[in-house]
Amino acid sequence: MNQRAGFAAASLSQLLRAELTAGRSRWSETPVVLESARPGFAVAGGRELLILSANDYLGLACDQRVVEAAARAGNTYGFGSRAARSLGGDTQVHRELELELADFKQTEAVLLFGSGFSCNVGVIPALGRSGDLVCSDELNHASIVDGCRLSAADVAVYRHNDVRHLNEILEQRSPPRVMIVTDAVFSMEGDIAPLPELVTLAERHGAFLMLDEAHATGVLGLGGEGACGLFGLHGRVDVLMGTLGKALGSIGGFIAGSRDLIDYLARSARSFVFTTSLPAPAAAAALTALRILRAEPERVATLSANAQHLRRRFTDAGFDVIPGPTPIVAVRFGSEHIAGEMARRLLDRGVYVQAIGAPYVPAGTSRIRVIASAAHRQTDLDYALNAFSETAQELGIETV
Ligand SMILES: *Cc1c(COP(=O)(O)O)cnc(C)c1O
Repeated sequence: MNQRAGFAAASLSQLLRAELTAGRSRWSETPVVLESARPGFAVAGGRELLILSANDYLGLACDQRVVEAAARAGNTYGFGSRAARSLGGDTQVHRELELELADFKQTEAVLLFGSGFSCNVGVIPALGRSGDLVCSDELNHASIVDGCRLSAADVAVYRHNDVRHLNEILEQRSPPRVMIVTDAVFSMEGDIAPLPELVTLAERHGAFLMLDEAHATGVLGLGGEGACGLFGLHGRVDVLMGTLGKALGSIGGFIAGSRDLIDYLARSARSFVFTTSLPAPAAAAALTALRILRAEPERVATLSANAQHLRRRFTDAGFDVIPGPTPIVAVRFGSEHIAGEMARRLLDRGVYVQAIGAPYVPAGTSRIRVIASAAHRQTDLDYALNAFSETAQELGIETV
């Protein structure tokens, strides 16, 4: 018995080791373990690093008011929430955050989840049922891909941001219920979905539209309200998904939409029903972050100015930048090896960015994601740009 267990464990390890050395997860190998953090910067290995790899867009994760709100909620409710939401894991803070998020997103209601990931894997199967069709952009986030896999609906993947391809699919097939699902901001590219065209197309075909605003909330639109705010499309997207883990500096996810949608999901989204609710300190931190975001919209303006500055500087220096209006600046290097080597050398210079290669992006399109934040000064960004230029020169990379 023992011998068999030992044998099985060894052979699984060997299998996995072989996969690892085949390079399947090579891009994530820049190991940085933080010892402390402040907005835009962190200490690791006893050194201060300029953080350009984080989604803390507005510098709120380390804001003193946010941290104190979490501590107060911990003292009031405890850290763990003890049960699923409808089985005793509900608090005033959860309720308040849902009301305030609904007001911010201009929808009737909001439902909190444990993470953005669990929103997508719960909501897509709850809405896309057997006989339905779900249309998904080919570059959608992994949590949407997994939500589609868990759904009993047929899934059609359309080419990235290709409204004509999506239209072809919708003209060929007419099941009773169709849902289109897309990222608002694509996390590996930093480009955005053609939301006005998608809304028109969905309305013309009687399809529902689900929009993942993980990288849009707190980022796009004047007050950081998201893509609907940016394009003036309030009330025309059926399902809005967001995370509390990025611009809102906490952890958790939410769905915003009609009262009926929220009531339905609270009963049928399995990743809501069958899991411990979000800790009250996380909800309290997000609520305080949301209030700061609304009271200090200049943070969103600073983020946008920093993003534009970074994009302009990289483009002027001859780097191959994927165009887009967002703070996610994807600098392409092609070879996985070169992108990885760039990231390692940049870390030596105190600049923390992530290299991303296959299979997470198509082979030969390896890139470094540089993510701007409102917490940085433009001189910080200039320092990073100079470090990029010098490192590229060291490695003999041609910039045009
Ligand atoms: C980060 C992300 C998620 C997951 O959100 P978490 O709250 O981190 O689980 C979902 N969709 C997109 C597009 C994301 O970038």
